[in-house]
Parts: sequence; C-alpha cells; structure tokens
Amino acid sequence: MIYKRSSALFVEAQTVIPGGVNSPVRAFKSVGGDPIFVKEAKGAYLYDEDGRTLIDYINSWGPMILGHAYQPVVDAVVSKAQKGTSFGMPTEIETDIARLAIEMVPGIDKIRFVNSGTEACMSAIRLARGFTNREKIIKFSGCYHGHSDSFLIQAGSGAVTFGTPNSPGVTEGTAKDTLLADYNNLDQIEALFNANPNEIAAIIVEPVAGNMGCIPPKNGFLEGLRSLCDQHNTLLIFDEVMTGFRLAKGGVQELKNVKADIVTFGKVIGGGLPVGAFAARDEIMNHLAPLGPVYQAGTLSGNPLAMAAGLAMLTEINTDKDLFKRLEEKTAYLHKGIELALNRHGVVHTINRVGSMISVHFAEEEVVDFKTAALGDNDTFKKFFHGLLAEGIYIAPSAYETWFITDALTYEDLDTTINAVQKVASTL
Ligand code: PMP
Repeated sequence: MIYKRSSALFVEAQTVIPGGVNSPVRAFKSVGGDPIFVKEAKGAYLYDEDGRTLIDYINSWGPMILGHAYQPVVDAVVSKAQKGTSFGMPTEIETDIARLAIEMVPGIDKIRFVNSGTEACMSAIRLARGFTNREKIIKFSGCYHGHSDSFLIQAGSGAVTFGTPNSPGVTEGTAKDTLLADYNNLDQIEALFNANPNEIAAIIVEPVAGNMGCIPPKNGFLEGLRSLCDQHNTLLIFDEVMTGFRLAKGGVQELKNVKADIVTFGKVIGGGLPVGAFAARDEIMNHLAPLGPVYQAGTLSGNPLAMAAGLAMLTEINTDKDLFKRLEEKTAYLHKGIELALNRHGVVHTINRVGSMISVHFAEEEVVDFKTAALGDNDTFKKFFHGLLAEGIYIAPSAYETWFITDALTYEDLDTTINAVQKVASTL
C-alpha cells in the first residue's frame, strides 16, 4: 500500500478529532479512500508522510499563490516570532499592511483584520445590517462564504460535498433572513427585491465563484447587481476571499471594473497564516466599534505573525509587475493541455477558468450556476482524482472545488500534469 503511514495517522486522528480532520473538505469522503497527511511543502510541491512528492493544485485552498514556504514570507514570520507572538495591543505593522491593501484595492478607505474568511464575511453582513437598518440578505446557491449561520443555506464547497448545504443547527429564524438566488440570474434578484421592498440589507456574492467549481460571472451580471443594489439602497458585498490578490492586485473589482460597497478577504492576504479582512469606504467602516455601534472584535486579530506574513505576501504581489501575466499564461497553458488530452479520449467535459482559478466539470452543458455544476458526473471525477493522485498530482478531493495555480509551477510541472491527465483520460 502506497499510503501506509498516512492511513495509520488517519486512524489515530479519528480517535481524537471528528472525522480525523479539522475542516471537512480535507477528508476524502466524496472521492473515497484516506486523506493524505502532509509532512512539508516547498514551492509547487507537497512532501507527504509516505515519502512521495506531489505537484500541488490546492495550495492550501488558495493562499500559496507564490508557492509553499516562500522565502520572504518565512523570513518575515521567523523574525517577528522572535519578538513576541501576540500582544492584544496595537502594533505598527497593522497600519503598514492596511495602507498597502488600501492602495492595491479600489474604493476602500479603511480595512479591519480578522482571523478567517468566515469571520470577514460574518462581520461584513453585520456591518451591512447595522448600516442599512435592514435584516435580510441575498446569497447565491452554491456560493460559500464561510460557516457562519446565515451562510449555511444552499452553501457550496464542503457543505455541498457532504450533502449538507443547509446545516442542522442553523435556526429557522436565521435561515428566513437569507434569501436565495441562482448565480448569474438577475431576474431572480429583481423578483426578490420586489417581494421584499426596503428589507434587503445586502447582496453577498463571490464575484467569480469558486465553491461550486469555478464559475465566471456572465457579462453584465456584476454590473446588474451593482445597479439593482443602487436602485434599492442595498449594499453589494464582494466576497473576494478566494479572488482577492489572486485575479488582480485589486481583485475582481479591478478585473471587471465593478465597484462593491464592502469587500471581504482571506487566503492570499494572510500569506498562509490565519487572516481575513473586510473593507469599505469611510462612511460604512465608521459604523464599526469603537467609532460606531456595530460590534466586532478579536483577541488575535491583527496578530503580528499573521500581519508579517500578509505584509510580505502583499508586498511581493504589489512589486512583481508580471505576476498576474505569468499566472494567466501558465493557467491558460494547463487549460489547453487538459482540454486536448480529454478531447483526444472523448471524455465529456467543460473547463471553466478565470485567471489562475480553473476547474474541470465532467458535464457537457455550460456550467453557469449550482444546478448546472451539479450535473457533472461524480463517478468520472472520482476516477480522475485517484488517477491523478497515483501519478503524483494533487487536486481538490471534490468536484465542487477549484484548482489554484501557483507561480512556483514550472512549465515542466505543467507538462508532467498534462501527461498525467492524458494517461488518466485513457482510463475514464
Ligand atoms: N468565502 C469564500 C469565497 C471562500 O472560498 C471561503 C473558504 N474557502 C470562505 C469565505 C471562508 O473562509 P475561511 O475558510 O478562511 O473561514
């Protein structure tokens, strides 16, 4: 057995951690088999507990855009750690990273740091409700905004992988304030506004969806949301936890030239440490405590190690003029190679891609929302996943996830991957 040590570690883990994992998508529940335990990682590669090397297309679910153990980030964290790991008092570096993020992202005057994407989205919703004095929100089926109660209504990512898009434990009272629409469907949004006049505080959207596989916004969709929100005095929240600092310096706001009222961040902004953030113009952010009445807090928020990692990461992204071009070219190369390999073997598929986010759906129809994403053939996905794994290629263990391309990948790595896809495709 190749994964003897990983499987033994998994047996142990299950005795003390529910399901053996601290976040459900890490388990291989939907693809079968035991999860792989990682020992260390560098650049584009994972080194697992059984001595294998894997080319990594998950990259910690997005943060490691420059590769694992990226030296400037490691150096920043190590040197900060020598000086104390948490104070619960303000530090200068929090202003440094805030200033840089505000310079990179359009339309934000202030930013607050938290510890995860979940916290960022949860706080953004509270702020939107406090600012508008309204209670309802709209989210899209298949979008994931973290595991806070209001979002576990037709949620994507692990929630759908495990068949619990509506989690037990979320009260009816909470659920009734989350209204649902299909991604890319403006008619439904209009209908919701008409049915709930002056009641909708915010629309929260992944401006490029990544939690039902990758789904790009159709032309006019984000612009349509913007204008409907303006018409109804509703705030538009872009959840850029995945897309922020990944698709462009200024995220999807910059890429698609559509402005949001509140933007949430996670993943890349923390350089691989636990960081989230939410940001908006002054008028909105000044409603937050201690300036305003909307309460939000955190013992470890703005933690010096996390801020050091985030600042080193954002500095690299801000100064590397060709980064997004390189990522686009590498991902386009991979996209073309996978497409050719699957076509050569007559494997029915649709590939969705925006910049360095890409996903392979084993479905014939265009994948534009959760319903069309769910038409993908899961048995084919399972074979694809395990086939690639046997070839040393690690993709997310669910058909509802996106691949995240890192700049550490070389064209040789991409060719190795395409050759592996070619080999696996012949068995599908
Ligand atoms: N929003 C989006 C778009 C995400 O992809 C995720 C996590 N994958 C979250 C929010 C939640 O972030 P976290 O897991 O850091 O709580």
